Amino acid sequence: VEVGSSRRNAGIGFGSMTVSAVAVVSDARRGGAALTGLGLGSIGRYAHGGLLRERFMPRLRAAAPADYADGSGDSIDPCRAWDLLMRDEKPGGHGERSGAVGVLDAALWDLAAKIADLPLWRLLARRFGNSSAPPLVPTYASGGHYCPGDDLESLRQELRQAQARGHTRFKIKIGGAPLADDLRRIEAALEVAGGGEHLAVDANGVLDRSRAFRYVEALQGYRLAWLEEPADPLDFELYAEIARAWPGSLGTGENLFSAADARNLLRYAGLRRERDWLQMDPLLGYGVPEYLRMLEAVEAAGWSRRRCVPHAGHLFAQHLAAGLGLGGHESATDPGQPFGALAGDATLEQGVVRLGEAPGIGIEATPSCLALFGVLLP
Ligand SMILES: [Mg+2]
Repeated sequence: VEVGSSRRNAGIGFGSMTVSAVAVVSDARRGGAALTGLGLGSIGRYAHGGLLRERFMPRLRAAAPADYADGSGDSIDPCRAWDLLMRDEKPGGHGERSGAVGVLDAALWDLAAKIADLPLWRLLARRFGNSSAPPLVPTYASGGHYCPGDDLESLRQELRQAQARGHTRFKIKIGGAPLADDLRRIEAALEVAGGGEHLAVDANGVLDRSRAFRYVEALQGYRLAWLEEPADPLDFELYAEIARAWPGSLGTGENLFSAADARNLLRYAGLRRERDWLQMDPLLGYGVPEYLRMLEAVEAAGWSRRRCVPHAGHLFAQHLAAGLGLGGHESATDPGQPFGALAGDATLEQGVVRLGEAPGIGIEATPSCLALFGVLLP
């Protein structure tokens, strides 16, 4: 489904952006109706329809229900289903399949949570040993894209509106304009945010070495919350050099899709466990089972999972952040967008989202997300 807009970051425009919407219809029933699990893909990597239709959905359909049932026999075990999806897949070279598996995994977890009559965050917390944690997720407002007719007042306005909704921390785009223009945008944003610790900047991986170091030099005095993806996300040695020169925090990981990639990031990119942010996106990276392996790698490297704040702003990440005890959540500044919405009956106050008790992920209760399912739902 199309989720295009006229926004740009430093690397890409979103005019032809698409995401996959997946519905897993089951024979479990509530109130006479069949329960359906819904998954909605992440933003920035386009839809995965070909992979889903040709490879992953047929594999699941061909499986015997006993092979993905949970121990009770009343529900599905998404981790067992994941093993079926990944049968005959070689390790490494993750490409786009990790996003296809991620969105299907999300739909399976939504279904499992609905069968259990629990919000997904609570199901995850119970299953993965975090059940005493309150469903509170520190959340920042992400936006400040380059737009047609861009001006500083519209940027300030965007942040003011997010502030009025309850946000206290913001992130804007850099790297898509000359440095002097980006500095003016940062200063405009700071007028609303109130101080560097309330504002992060994201270059979306586009700066080459010399530009990256010019930004590092020019931005130091602002004491920003973090600098995100200043350079190509796979150039770990360059990240290590930037980390030595940049006194603030760095954020990266949204373009790494596997536990092996996360492990290499932690080994070779010079990141600092007390300061930097890991932004791997569970929807783009094979879903919950692989995200749990990423958390294992994070903790094995001596980091806290509180340094993990997933990319994108989708409802699935909100539930993982609460259920698995992560450090926070990204949310688009515009609450009318699928990636700016709160899950179901969640609320936002002083930069903290409190998740509610509606079963599943909450897509049905979120009009901007539900609208994307179109013909999939009666
Ligand atoms: Mg980013």
